[in-house]
Amino acid sequence: MNEHLAGLPYSLVYPESKVKPFWDNLAQNKFTTTKCPKCGLLWPPKANCPNCGEETSEWIELKGTGEIYAKTQVGASPPAFKAMLPFILVVGKLDEGILVAARMEKANFEDLKIGTPIKIEIKKSFGLDSYIFVPA
Ligand SMILES: [Zn+2]
Repeated sequence: MNEHLAGLPYSLVYPESKVKPFWDNLAQNKFTTTKCPKCGLLWPPKANCPNCGEETSEWIELKGTGEIYAKTQVGASPPAFKAMLPFILVVGKLDEGILVAARMEKANFEDLKIGTPIKIEIKKSFGLDSYIFVPA
């Protein structure tokens, strides 16, 4: 366990080994999530299945396509992100049914509606493997 996580409730502790495959897969241009082998639920990487408590998980590749579930335009940020202002933040509902939050690029905020088709684009951000949403 990471030292800075000490003292957090058990449900908030994410064992690094359970999350690392997400970043390894992203570096290979694959957008993935975990699937419970017991009940089939898809969920963002975390320690246990939020439905049945299963401790193991399978990694599956997502299509990366979906639609806008919620959106906002961010106009204030910590100093490190000031050069990006304003930016669009979207919660996308992927075709597989899970929600993913990410910045949206290559679009005007006013043109985006709930239900607008979007897709994940994997790219480097601040030198790290990352992902954004773009119009589909
Ligand atoms: Zn489960």
